[in-house]
Amino acid sequence: MTYVYDDQNIFAKILRGEIPNDTVYEDEHALAFRDIQPQAPVHVLVIPKGPYVTYDHFADTATDAEIIGYTRAIGKVCALMGVEPGTGGQGFRTISNAGEDGVQEVPHLHTHILGGRPLGRMLERAAD
Ligand code: 5GP
Repeated sequence: MTYVYDDQNIFAKILRGEIPNDTVYEDEHALAFRDIQPQAPVHVLVIPKGPYVTYDHFADTATDAEIIGYTRAIGKVCALMGVEPGTGGQGFRTISNAGEDGVQEVPHLHTHILGGRPLGRMLERAAD
């Protein structure tokens, strides 16, 4: 697998503090901030701090500590946002778009956490 990370992407700029963001959580491995165009009452993006383009890139090349840290950060954000079913929340959906068919807009791995309303079915059934 060959990935070239573009360090001028918008999330790299957010990580460097060059562009403001509405942070909801941050630790050594991850930053979570509200999506600028929310599609649900809760719409937070969780990004790893390292230079990874997609989930498969991250899963293949990140350290165990980064993978554990990022995964745990996603869980913490769900709890912070009050959508975690295990603690009384109404549930959520995580989405990580990759590449052209995944319609990935920003080439830095991010996981969308969506919730706060019924989200409907996962995908509209389109003609193949
Ligand atoms: P993708 O389609 O790559 O999975 O989603 C990228 C997301 O990033 C979109 O939901 C878009 O609204 C969000 N986004 C793009 N630019 C910015 C920005 O400058 N700040 C924030 N907070 N979100 C952004």
